[in-house]
Amino acid sequence: MIGGATRWLARLYVGALAVLFALMPAHALAQDPNSGLTYPSELPCHTIVDPAETMAAIARDPARWSCGTLEELPAGTQQIAVRFGLGDSAIAQPGLLVNSHTYREFDTFERFAIVTVGEREIASSGWLTVEQLLPTSPVWKTRVEAPSIAGEAQAVIVRIDAPERAGVIDRFELVDTAPDALLANADQLIAATLCGLLLLPVLIGLGHFRVLRSRYAAYHFAYCVLAMVQIAALGGLLPLLFDIPRTAQFMILHLSFDLITATSVIFAVNFIEPDRLSATSRRLLYAIGALALVLGTMRVTLGQTIGDAIAFVYYGGYVLFLVGLGYALAQSLLSGSRASRFILAGFLPLVVIGTLRVVLALATNFEIRFHAVLWQHLALSWQAVVTAIAVADRFLILRQERDHARDTARLLERVSERDSLTDLYNRRIITERYAQLHADGFTSLAVLDLDHFKAINDTFGHAAGDDVLCAVADALGPDEDTIVVRMGGEEFVLLLRGDGVFERAERRRIAVGLAGRAALGDAHRVTASMGLIELSPETAPDMDFYGLYERADRLLYEAKNAGRDRTVSERLKVFRPRRRDRRSADRRHAA
Ligand code: GH3
Ligand code: MG
Ligand code: MG
Repeated sequence: MIGGATRWLARLYVGALAVLFALMPAHALAQDPNSGLTYPSELPCHTIVDPAETMAAIARDPARWSCGTLEELPAGTQQIAVRFGLGDSAIAQPGLLVNSHTYREFDTFERFAIVTVGEREIASSGWLTVEQLLPTSPVWKTRVEAPSIAGEAQAVIVRIDAPERAGVIDRFELVDTAPDALLANADQLIAATLCGLLLLPVLIGLGHFRVLRSRYAAYHFAYCVLAMVQIAALGGLLPLLFDIPRTAQFMILHLSFDLITATSVIFAVNFIEPDRLSATSRRLLYAIGALALVLGTMRVTLGQTIGDAIAFVYYGGYVLFLVGLGYALAQSLLSGSRASRFILAGFLPLVVIGTLRVVLALATNFEIRFHAVLWQHLALSWQAVVTAIAVADRFLILRQERDHARDTARLLERVSERDSLTDLYNRRIITERYAQLHADGFTSLAVLDLDHFKAINDTFGHAAGDDVLCAVADALGPDEDTIVVRMGGEEFVLLLRGDGVFERAERRRIAVGLAGRAALGDAHRVTASMGLIELSPETAPDMDFYGLYERADRLLYEAKNAGRDRTVSERLKVFRPRRRDRRSADRRHAA
């Protein structure tokens, strides 16, 4: 049962998540990707630069600059400069937004310098590499201040050393706002909150794994951890927390995403009910999981060296991934898989984002990069929560099944060990559990038989005889120190432990007579005879039931012969089963 505090904590959690989920799309929609970019007022222009040239020489030479698209870098290009003219706009402190994401993957370059051009003066920064820039959010975009000059800036120029492709000139944008502070960025705050909230699914995942020991619980846990890493990396949290190189950040960012997709499908293979997942789908899911790993590893290890080709392979690979996932999910859904419904609901947002990303990238030759940072945060968290619910659902189903199985086992146990008429134990308990009962101290044994029971049947009918047997069974009253067994017919065995064995057995024998008589409406006297062997656990280390029973039965026979309605008992000091002629002391005859 969930405690009150836990329930309130859960409500608080769900509430916080709901608020965050509601805020994020609003925040994402409100965020104009070009906000802060009131410039350029003129098209950026570019020129091929010789490393020996100074910017002062070319900055104000209109003939040097061509304004338009650059399809290809001329062969042998060593440096290229991009000029953002400010025209009539007055701007005190311009800055550049550097897309360092592309620095890692495509359109790579060695280093860059920023030059601010004023009416009379020119100021130039030293060479910078992306590694040196302060991270902001999104993590791949960094704002760099242009060097300041006394008057107003007329243009900002970026000089790029060793560019690899023409596309490199599009990787810089002019912005008129001051560079972001490292902290207190709304995106980082959202990422931090989401990571905090994801801790709960992480803990739930761990808890389920500890209880269920199932692979899917382990993969669910791994997914949640990876989702946290991805959100932290994408939201620009990593550099706040750890001092790690930018290249390592990108590795973590990319690899965690591909690990997430791989983990998700491997989770699906293990979570979908085996009888609802065809062999083809199973193989397909394993294959696309492996594919995601290969693609991710390839991107982080070869990304920079092979460039474009890798991008095509990567995105093309994800087309296959999506097709494979679609097939397997459709197949299992059509087979009526309950798990697949959860998986579809959980994966859907990320699949939609992934599909848009892949399609837009491939269709526009990587012109449109659909990053959708906040939407991806949302999708990842959604998947973590839905999957956690799915695992909890499975947990409940398993528990129901287990309870059901336990009930059935108990019922079967009852059926096989109990006598159907009286609900007392039948002789199976003796044959199967006597050694245990004996070890538990049930060492004394009585055999009790109703006297002239045949006459009762004959006089009052078999049904009345049955009533007597039931009344007798009630009167025998099993308790924790007295086990009552119906051996068959109107013969019962009592196994006793503890003190006062004789008295307790005798009391029952007399009670049996009274109960039987009452069952017949006092129309007939009912009595019983009993043979009792008292044996203490110390004197009976190992005992064979039938040896003892045979001996008690002989005492019963003696009681019958002596006139019935009595007990013949024997207290054994030493038990010697096969020596029939020897009886120990303390032999008592009850009246
Ligand atoms: P004694 O005092 O020597 O034990 O005489 P008895 O008549 O009790 O012994 P006997 O073994 O001759 O008869 C036992 C009878 O118990 C015979 C049988 O029909 C009856 N009986 C056995 N099982 C049941 C049962 O389940 N229900 C009923 N009503 N009678 C049963
Ligand atoms: Mg009898
Ligand atoms: Mg009998």
